[in-house]
Amino acid sequence: MSAAKMIAVLARCERAMQRNEALTVRIKASLIRCRTVKAFSGATFLEKNAGGFFDGEGRIKTHLWEAYSEYDADEVSQEEHLRDPDDGCRHCYSAWRLVRLRKKARQELGAARRLVRHYGKEAIKAEKAAP
Ligand SMILES: [Zn+2]
Repeated sequence: MSAAKMIAVLARCERAMQRNEALTVRIKASLIRCRTVKAFSGATFLEKNAGGFFDGEGRIKTHLWEAYSEYDADEVSQEEHLRDPDDGCRHCYSAWRLVRLRKKARQELGAARRLVRHYGKEAIKAEKAAP
């Protein structure tokens, strides 16, 4: 493998990691604007502990959470729920769209990592074969 090819593979992997991290930051930035998250932030200690804000796994019940919980993998219904003028939430909808982009970015990261491993194994073979 040439040095240029190695650099290209490493750059592809790093770009994929950066894209994933950037999308995660944007998802968090969207969710923090959700009115459920704002209501939790403004709640008193007793209100926060009264229940209703979190599911059994400690996740806050945002509109995004509702969409995933109620519609499982049905993306059409998830989108309808999030875009509903009364019960929806534009911030959670934005997060939902970003999550979909991140899924694709994670697939690219997986492919890039497999390439790094492939060439890593080739490098080990080359080391062993070297005099
Ligand atoms: Zn929301």
